[in-house]
Amino acid sequence: MKASKIWLSSPHMGGTEQKYVTKAFEENWIAPLGPNVTGFENDLEHYLGRDSQVACVSSGTGAIHIALDMAGVSAGDTVLCQSFTFCGSANPITYLGAKPIFIDSELETWNMSPEYLKAAIEKEIQKSKKPKAVLAVHLYGMPAKIDQIEQICKEYDIVLIEDAAEALGSEYKGRKCGTFGDFSILSFNGNKIITTSGGGALVCRTKEAKAEAIFLATQARDNAPHYQHSRIGYNYRMSNVVAGIGRGQMEVLEDHVSARRANHTFYKKIFEKVEEVTLFEEPSTDFYSNHWLSCITFDDKKMLNCEKLRNFLLDFNIESRPLWKPMHLQPVYESNDYYGNGEAAALFNKGLCLPSGSNLGSEEKNRIKEALYSFFENN
Ligand SMILES: *Cc1c(COP(=O)(O)O)cnc(C)c1O
Repeated sequence: MKASKIWLSSPHMGGTEQKYVTKAFEENWIAPLGPNVTGFENDLEHYLGRDSQVACVSSGTGAIHIALDMAGVSAGDTVLCQSFTFCGSANPITYLGAKPIFIDSELETWNMSPEYLKAAIEKEIQKSKKPKAVLAVHLYGMPAKIDQIEQICKEYDIVLIEDAAEALGSEYKGRKCGTFGDFSILSFNGNKIITTSGGGALVCRTKEAKAEAIFLATQARDNAPHYQHSRIGYNYRMSNVVAGIGRGQMEVLEDHVSARRANHTFYKKIFEKVEEVTLFEEPSTDFYSNHWLSCITFDDKKMLNCEKLRNFLLDFNIESRPLWKPMHLQPVYESNDYYGNGEAAALFNKGLCLPSGSNLGSEEKNRIKEALYSFFENN
């Protein structure tokens, strides 16, 4: 019999989620608003601090869509977007009829390179096409060089949207990811650090901005007894049922971060002895990663590579996955402009994400360790 599947990152319930969901049923709050939505927003605001104003929505992608709309992005505009990311970062730019221009990564954090960002802004301004917004990501939970990026956006007066979908619990210079820039977004998809099955949040800096976000997320209904609209809105509000899962998950968020960081330490011990592999690590103590996913890169001396290892692990029923394929290499974005030097593309070609769930037990870790040792000993 085959051993049970070890997933890359699977949902991990803490135990109190159902209590909040049951309450939603008992009180008949089966709607896209209610005490769980408000409670989950309060929990997130308290956790993030710095007067964060949180609007919960149905997905991280939806949160980015609303943030871009609030940033004034519309048809014909351009937005500078990190290339090395999941499509959920870039697609909402396209929903608005705007065009993403992709920015390469730097190799310390794998995130948006401040140098290429600055070069792109100056070049686009020369072409009289000043970008409307910048979308920076903390990939795999690793904080980007967000202070430099923020500084550049201030200098050129461009709205900064922080995609912290993978980075709840991460910090840069002691400040929580999800509190930088003009807007931040979070995701509670099934594989993220905490999950509501599906969901997201838009983090605003003022009460007024939060009110506008909720207005837009609920079809932009004007204040009138009948249904009246003077703006195009969205149906993106979070359900009170799934918000109950979120409230329970907030009680175990810190445990999840500790467990994922412990996974990273587990991999560090294994790969210390493997010369041809580098584990992706925090470049300095300024960076505190939740290590949402632990990732490795190969330097290819022995003709080993990610696909070989990925298939080898699959034989042990262990899931792993190539790094995100950069957006500027995606067929759908091939013709978009790109500023960079192939850094993200090189990472994509030599990197792999390893099982990183906060629910990995010691038995599963032993299986992973044995599989990795046997791969590197026999190759
Ligand atoms: C998951 C993710 C998103 C989108 O979030 P959803 O809730 O799945 O819509 C956006 N950006 C990044 C970097 C993500 O990992």
